Amino acid sequence: MERQNKRPKRQRHRMEQIRDAAGIHGKGLELLKIIHRIDSSAIPLQLMDAVIQVTHIYLGLFFTARLIDSLLEAAFRRAFFCAGALILTALLLEMAGLLVAGAQEKSWNRLFTGLYMLIREKAFSLDYETMEQPEVVDRIARSERTAAMYGGLNGILGAYKEMLESLLTIGMAVGLTAALCFAPPAAGDGLLAMAARPAVSVAIVLVFTCVAFVVYGKGNRGFNRRHEVIFSSHTDVEIKLGYMTNNILKDSKTAKVIRIYDMKEMLMANFREFNEVSTSFFKRWNILDRQAGLFRNTVNGFFVVCAYLFVAVKALAGAITIGTFTQYAGALTKMAGGFRDLVESNVLLRRNCTYMEDFLNFLHLESSHVAGSIPVEKRLDGEYEIEFKDVSFHYPGSEELVLKHVNCKLTTKNKMALVGRNGAGKTTFIKLLCRLYEPTEGSITLNGVDIRKYKEEEYRELFSVVFQDFKLFAFPVWSNLVAGYEREDGKLRDCLERAGAAEFVGELPQGVDTLLYRTKDGGVEISGGEAQKLALARALYKDAPFVVLDEPTAALDPISEAQVYAGFDEMVKEKTSVYISHRMSSCRFCDDIIVFDQGRIIERGSHEELLGRQGQYAQMWNAQAKYYAD
Ligand code: ADP
Repeated sequence: MERQNKRPKRQRHRMEQIRDAAGIHGKGLELLKIIHRIDSSAIPLQLMDAVIQVTHIYLGLFFTARLIDSLLEAAFRRAFFCAGALILTALLLEMAGLLVAGAQEKSWNRLFTGLYMLIREKAFSLDYETMEQPEVVDRIARSERTAAMYGGLNGILGAYKEMLESLLTIGMAVGLTAALCFAPPAAGDGLLAMAARPAVSVAIVLVFTCVAFVVYGKGNRGFNRRHEVIFSSHTDVEIKLGYMTNNILKDSKTAKVIRIYDMKEMLMANFREFNEVSTSFFKRWNILDRQAGLFRNTVNGFFVVCAYLFVAVKALAGAITIGTFTQYAGALTKMAGGFRDLVESNVLLRRNCTYMEDFLNFLHLESSHVAGSIPVEKRLDGEYEIEFKDVSFHYPGSEELVLKHVNCKLTTKNKMALVGRNGAGKTTFIKLLCRLYEPTEGSITLNGVDIRKYKEEEYRELFSVVFQDFKLFAFPVWSNLVAGYEREDGKLRDCLERAGAAEFVGELPQGVDTLLYRTKDGGVEISGGEAQKLALARALYKDAPFVVLDEPTAALDPISEAQVYAGFDEMVKEKTSVYISHRMSSCRFCDDIIVFDQGRIIERGSHEELLGRQGQYAQMWNAQAKYYAD
């Protein structure tokens, strides 16, 4: 009964091992394909390198054996040729090896940078909704960190090269070992002659090979398990250290907070704690590596001794010459080393595949948005109609509806304002309008067609948005404004003028060519108000039919704010503008006001209509009017 129970358990265990190995090589092959896509010369170069190395070893063994035999037979002419061939092949292979190594170095650099480019390309191609999820950001951080720390694609390529080299070594050694086994002993029936018989020799070699496999396999499984436990605890702390260094230590904005609130000791305590965890990880890692190395070398040493004994038996039994003794002993030693390296390369591959798992998971991420295919009609008259049809929405990871059954039409060439208390859902409404998120229920249509059916980039071309948390980049001013479009100096000047930024940009050291933000290449710091004006100019430069401004004057001084309002008509010209503001006075410039409350549209109309209705708009207006009057 117990025996019966044991068998299925053993079979299950074996199946698990096979599935596990298949999983590792599945990942390995996928990574090889990526390597080939980045640099098609990388794999052929590794193949050449492996073949050169193995040929080098075996030609050396072959010619050395012939040289010794020729000398022993006093065939000096043959010995001379053998010595010449030994030196010449060694020289040629050495030179070929150097050429390949040079090309490999360049290929490694291409792979190293190629990996980072892939991560960036993927990150930029994901839709906003997917990119905003914390676990996606975490995956990017992990892929970059593990690639930088543990060799990335080069590590995978190196592991496969080592595997191939050991397989070639074993293959060559098996050929020579077969020749050794089948070499019959000289006549005689002593113990030596018995052991040197081909059938017995084959049996001895087979038994040793099987033992080697079992011992290496069992030993390494233990080391692998321990390694995985150590590794899984590691990346988290590395990411925390990365956050502490990049987002806290190197950020000038946090530097102010740290000094004002005396956070030095608290942060240093955090650094110390993370560093201790990281140091203890490397300590455990090194100990494990040393133990694994010791284990493999001990087992290997045992097999080398056995190999020499076996070849000595064959030589003493007269089955091989003294010269070929070195060749066969070399071959058997290489075979034992080949097994060790094969196991080692497997360990290496397994480790590197584990390190690259986050990278692969990140590449496998699918955008959550449906990819539409209809092109958006480019209308010169700018006549577009967008309609929200019973739209409800909650953010991913939250069940709470932020928009509830929203119905509204946005008609063109209108000046619209969205008002409502903080958290009422105005910005979320804009995010859905720009297709950064998709409705949970209901639909949004453009000229009667669901916006999900349009090509996403073409649909987004319809909008220029200045978000509250707009960002400018440490690039020249012009590059920030032009963004993904062609530079036209006339248009650039016009947009700066309309956004009220022409004057201060004109005073910058290199005008529009001035680099923003202080970096080691120079650059200037600008005020929050100036940055907001540049963000406005960027929105105008895009020249999209819809201009959305979320609190566009929040950082402006009263004079600049008044200028923006006064020039608002000129600023947005014939476009549809959607304007979110807490300053009710700004709504007077708009012909259509939508009032949001707790995710619903509760009122809509012109300023006068809404004041007359005495609803929430009127309340907000009166509250602010009173505030100004006080
Ligand atoms: P408003 O612009 O009117 O101030 P928002 O649209 O920014 O309001 O926010 C509406 C609600 O949605 C708020 O309760 C806010 O906390 C929540 N919210 C906003 N952004 C996110 C997000 N990325 N994930 C989860 N909830 C969010």
